Amino acid sequence: MIIPVRCFSCGRVIGSDYVRFSNKVEEIRKSKNREANSEEISGILDDLNVTRYCCRRMILSNAELLEEILPFD
Ligand SMILES: [Zn+2]
Repeated sequence: MIIPVRCFSCGRVIGSDYVRFSNKVEEIRKSKNREANSEEISGILDDLNVTRYCCRRMILSNAELLEEILPFD
């Protein structure tokens, strides 16, 4: 669904980082014509200063389903 504004465990604001993360992954997808690999994803999170694994799991495990669910409201 929608990314939570704060990390459930530590309370760090991660909502704004998710947008930047998604944009960088999309850049890699378009420029290299493939999905980003684990090292690239880890590097993006490090660049965004998302170092705690609780915050990383919030970003990595988020699934954008809002557009798919909207027609069924
Ligand atoms: Zn956290």
